[in-house]
Amino acid sequence: MGPEGSVKCARCGRPARVRVQYAKLNLCDEHFIEYLRGRVLRLLARLARPRDIRRVLVAVSGGKDSVSLLDILVGIRELAGLKEVYGLHIDLGIGSYSEESLAVAKEACERLGVPCVALSLRDLLGLGVPELAKASRRPACSVCGMVKRYIINAVGLELGVDAVVLGHHMDDILVFALKDLFTGDLRDLSKLAPLSPGVDGLLVTRIRPLYEVYEQDLALYSALRGLRVVGGSCPFKHEDFLKAALRDLLRKLEEEAPGFEISLSRRIARDLLPRLSQGAQEGSAVPCKYCGMPSSNGVCSFCRLTEKVFGRPMGPIVREGIKAAVLRLRASSATNGPHPGAPASGAR
Ligand code: AMP
Ligand code: ZN
Ligand code: ZN
Repeated sequence: MGPEGSVKCARCGRPARVRVQYAKLNLCDEHFIEYLRGRVLRLLARLARPRDIRRVLVAVSGGKDSVSLLDILVGIRELAGLKEVYGLHIDLGIGSYSEESLAVAKEACERLGVPCVALSLRDLLGLGVPELAKASRRPACSVCGMVKRYIINAVGLELGVDAVVLGHHMDDILVFALKDLFTGDLRDLSKLAPLSPGVDGLLVTRIRPLYEVYEQDLALYSALRGLRVVGGSCPFKHEDFLKAALRDLLRKLEEEAPGFEISLSRRIARDLLPRLSQGAQEGSAVPCKYCGMPSSNGVCSFCRLTEKVFGRPMGPIVREGIKAAVLRLRASSATNGPHPGAPASGAR
């Protein structure tokens, strides 16, 4: 996808190696990195006023999207006014896939000087996602999604951050959005809004600053930055025919009209999602009677599922475990550094 040999970078005049089709730009490696960081900075600014989001928790799966996102955020942290940046990785107990993901996520945080909360579901609960799915007779992906949402929110609350930052990129968001329109499940669609507002003490604001960033750009960014990312994908992941067809359709539309995906994503975020997420928010703002986390009817999905599997709701125990992990992080940061989450010298 690189431009022809003699084409020059639009920023510095050196030979260009990247053609950014949707922006009609030829760039050298260095200026592509700067360009993508600039895009994320502008997307962040569009989501929230910088002074409202100063302390963030980045959920790092180990995949190229969230590893690149963490790298980008640390690269722009001063411009974005980010005072504290934390990383979170959840080891879901899915065999060697989870082992590699944990190692990659920890390494990414360490390299950037970002304090990392690494939690193992098996340590917190005694079971990993595969066993939990089997025991509850629910699909692994739905159990996994619910567990991740629960833990990410609980850690965000414990740290008292302004927002948790997720690495969903535009291609995935659009495929989910179109699939939801096809199947009529619009509640699900609202879960992928670029900004899901929080509720004080109950639900941490979630932001997805890659909602207008192409997957291909993230692959290139991670390669140019030499970032280590997880090679394979989750063994439970399956691409059904509808998703594969929609991905194909989007690719063709983008080829015909570069930038198509960006305008579609923007329209969905601006016109459709705000109305959907309002409804979803109102329905999920009751604290769970067991663990205090958000629920729609007084018992959160995590407590409901674990009650079925263990005979008692495990939310309170898991929250205790999370509290202890955050205390350990604070204690180790207090001995190792000036301020947990604050910029480390040399992280660029
Ligand atoms: P996925 O649902 O796997 O496509 O992941 C979407 C986003 O959720 C990622 O970009 C991360 O921000 C976050 N995420 C997924 N898996 C994990 C994990 N095991 N630990 C921490 N964050 C995760
Ligand atoms: Zn250049
Ligand atoms: Zn609960």
